[in-house]
Amino acid sequence: MKKSFMLLGLLLISFAAKAHRFNLNMTYSEGIGYGYKNCSKAQEKEIYNAEKTAAIKLNKIIRNWPLASLAEVRHDYVIKEKRVWKKADPEVKVYMSYWQEMGETFEEMRDKFHEVTFECKSQREKRCQNNEVFAYVLFYFNYAKPVIHICPAFYGKSQESQAGTLLHELSHYSSSTEDIALDWINGKDVDLKRASKDAYHIENFANEDVTQVLKRMVWNSVWPKGKKH
Ligand SMILES: [Zn+2]
Repeated sequence: MKKSFMLLGLLLISFAAKAHRFNLNMTYSEGIGYGYKNCSKAQEKEIYNAEKTAAIKLNKIIRNWPLASLAEVRHDYVIKEKRVWKKADPEVKVYMSYWQEMGETFEEMRDKFHEVTFECKSQREKRCQNNEVFAYVLFYFNYAKPVIHICPAFYGKSQESQAGTLLHELSHYSSSTEDIALDWINGKDVDLKRASKDAYHIENFANEDVTQVLKRMVWNSVWPKGKKH
């Protein structure tokens, strides 16, 4: 009796874990995260839509990530745009590690999305800093807890911006990223070695195609235009 009860429990647990894990074929009929805390029905609905957008973006990034492998970049970018390619260039090695580590971070985010609870905070919450903060996570030593706190300023933002915020916060939890905030946008102050640990760099991928982001923020500095003769 006891044994069969335990087995049933195990079956239920594994079923629940499977049901929450999303994949490319998932019909989005349920929440992507684990659940909600202290949220109104309207807030839950808005967060749920942002979760969906974030999940779709994340899947798209992961699906397109192979297009950013060294071989593809060489063929579709360096050669096509006549950029400087030196095989022994240390930058090539750095890029290969960057590509590998970023790919792993995105996969960790996908795999741990379902572990996150969304907790709605009120205007009085100090950490929301008078509407300057959209969302935050709390760290326990160097690890973020699986709770994304949603501040009032989050609501009413564009879905793209909301999805970017969720991906940023999710990466803190899934991959222990930090807020390094280098100048990725202009590609002036970038550090490929720390990129996969920078929540702001992860967030950049929410708004555009993988190759568009990489062209502007990464490839351009790794493979500069050749000097004209
Ligand atoms: Zn952050």
